[in-house]
Amino acid sequence: MKLIFLGPPGAGKGTQASGVSAHLGVPHISTGDMFRSAIKNQTPTGLEAKRYMDAGELVPDSVVIDMVRERLAMDDCKSGYLLDGFPRTVEQAEALDQISAPDAVIEIDVPDERLLSRLTGRRVCGKCQGTFHISQLADEHACPICGGELYQRNDDQPETIATRLKAYHDQTEPLIDYYSGEGKLHVVEVSRLKTVNGDSKPEEVFKTILATLE
Ligand code: AMP
Repeated sequence: MKLIFLGPPGAGKGTQASGVSAHLGVPHISTGDMFRSAIKNQTPTGLEAKRYMDAGELVPDSVVIDMVRERLAMDDCKSGYLLDGFPRTVEQAEALDQISAPDAVIEIDVPDERLLSRLTGRRVCGKCQGTFHISQLADEHACPICGGELYQRNDDQPETIATRLKAYHDQTEPLIDYYSGEGKLHVVEVSRLKTVNGDSKPEEVFKTILATLE
């Protein structure tokens, strides 16, 4: 199955994508994680992406599209994929339809006022990449899964969060119309879009997503 998770930063796309991809047996492909790893390894793509990411802006379409095209050509994507954080613009969605069109798009809907506290309280493990909220942690610095050191993403500072939410509303939200077949740029006979309420416990959202997919 070829699946996309759409939703604002902090909606829980990454958390849900790791569970759902394991359940479906398809690779979880997060463009944000790919960029963070490229930055760590100081590759040319990483160096280019860093300034946009630190500012909370989207990395240019051409850079992201080339990276995803290469990734989807790998063997493990023959059974499908679960894309998390891509596409984020109509141009990216059009490119993906050419490369390997998705079967379904799950929009995880969470109101803006809930996202700010989710993002400012988010901590990531430098070792296993697990994501946690400070309200779940006994120790804000140690990963409860592997003991690795937890850190706060550069782009989870309040000023940058505002820019990221604006980028979502301005550039990514038009994809809701694109995939529901209402967009002027793209007309499909059957909507590929399903919306789930992401404003509840992660295990409940997980169950809703699986029920929606069935
Ligand atoms: P994420 O981990 O999905 O929140 O992504 C972190 C940052 O990586 C975003 O704020 C963007 O700067 C960049 N990024 C990730 N995916 C994309 C994409 N599909 N298009 C443009 N920029 C992206």
